[in-house]
Amino acid sequence: MSSAETSPGGVAARGLTFNEPLIFEQGGEGRAAFVPPAADVPALDLAATYGGLLRSDGLPGFPQVSAIEVVRHFTRLSQWNFSVDSGFYPLGSCTMKLNPKINEAAAALPGFAGAHPLSRDEQAQGTLQLLSELADYLCAISGMAKVSLQPAAGAHGELVGMLMIRAALTRAGNPRRTVLLPASAHGTNSASSALCGYEVIELPCGPRGYLEAAEVARRMSEEVAALMITNPNTLGLFEAEIAAICDLVHERGGFVYCDGANLNALMGLVRPGDTGVDVLHFNLHKTFSTPHGGGGPGAGPVGVSARLADYLPTPLVERVGERYALRYDVPHSIGRVRAFFGNVGVLLRAYAYIRAMGGSGLAQASADAVLNANYVRARLRGAYALPYDRPCLHECVFTDARQAPHGVTTLDIAKRLMDYGYHPPTVYFPLIVKAALMIEPTETETVETLDGFIDAMLRIARECAEQPQLLHEAPHLTRLSRLDETAAARRPQIRWLPST
Ligand SMILES: *Cc1c(COP(=O)(O)O)cnc(C)c1O
Repeated sequence: MSSAETSPGGVAARGLTFNEPLIFEQGGEGRAAFVPPAADVPALDLAATYGGLLRSDGLPGFPQVSAIEVVRHFTRLSQWNFSVDSGFYPLGSCTMKLNPKINEAAAALPGFAGAHPLSRDEQAQGTLQLLSELADYLCAISGMAKVSLQPAAGAHGELVGMLMIRAALTRAGNPRRTVLLPASAHGTNSASSALCGYEVIELPCGPRGYLEAAEVARRMSEEVAALMITNPNTLGLFEAEIAAICDLVHERGGFVYCDGANLNALMGLVRPGDTGVDVLHFNLHKTFSTPHGGGGPGAGPVGVSARLADYLPTPLVERVGERYALRYDVPHSIGRVRAFFGNVGVLLRAYAYIRAMGGSGLAQASADAVLNANYVRARLRGAYALPYDRPCLHECVFTDARQAPHGVTTLDIAKRLMDYGYHPPTVYFPLIVKAALMIEPTETETVETLDGFIDAMLRIARECAEQPQLLHEAPHLTRLSRLDETAAARRPQIRWLPST
């Protein structure tokens, strides 16, 4: 920030929109928000005790700021964040739904929040019961035979699933060489396959937006360890030939991995296990309403069919008679993949959500998510190109093909949406759609919110034709406008250097 933008008080404002200097640039010598009582033990001579371990690089020490400076600094920073609690957040594939606050209260109960992860089983019966029941609920929702709660995120679940597949094939005599992936797959699918030593073969999507069994029949062989597929896929379309595809893969001794990131479209309506898949990960932070974004924490439990149950990570949390216990005797377990039981705070929130919704509530949520996405799709299809113009499930994917002749791109449209007070949709994904705009409204939005968003999108479509310059320079109403995203990624400045 240039000094011209900094007021004498350290903060410059445009109206009530504040800039915020680093906390090191605020305060003054000797200021403090909290003064501890005088020590009643002798002071430690740091230099004598730690010698060479003390920093000597001349970097400044702690900021010296008053209480109100601390409060305002962090409050202002928090207000720079756009969140699902502040507005509509239709980020496709991310399921930015309401995070019920009751979940937070449940996860913060002292008996859970204060439990020590090294407690013995008999001291942690409540937590273990809840984790065991959560695993059972996830089995019931998905139709999978058994669930491990350990993986810390969806991508981690993928890695765990592929490790189990590799272990099972290795035990059968040959780990095989390749993994089949539809071209619409999320990038983590190929990364997880590669981490497990597999070469990825990309399969094209059929003209109706889903993978065709005939394509799998052509590419399936005894070299293929697994097919990874997302259902509904990243176009928001149901994989209509999934059952036949599973049969084809199984006939040649392979496994089917289902990326369950889009389970929000299926709860209570379709059980992926019934379609024949062998592994499924859940993104609890997406489907089951735990807050996410900014890198976590999340939880990516993984469910398996009976064929892979003996390979699950240990320990499993299980009911044994009247008690709950950790089970380590899984014969061919791939071992532990996460410290302790996984991200328990996230697991507790998902449990609270499932209990609050009930089975019929979850089915209603998925049905409403699908209805909302189709409402957006139907109202915008006159203004934006729809590469797969069919009813969708929980999200819909447009492109900039009608705006491109005016020199306006998907990026410009996304940036302009911010001027109307909306978080942009996912852009340029899935990769098989050129300049994709992927909109996932979720079930928790009202029709008024959807109408407001749709009206903004329709106005933007008109602006593209009439005032393309307006879009090229958008956003106009944010604190900062277009940033150099390449420089931000390539030359990040993550360390404060004193200017003197
Ligand atoms: C979010 C997502 C993932 C990865 O999940 P994380 O929990 O972010 O690791 C994988 N596949 C799809 C389709 C996703 O949307």
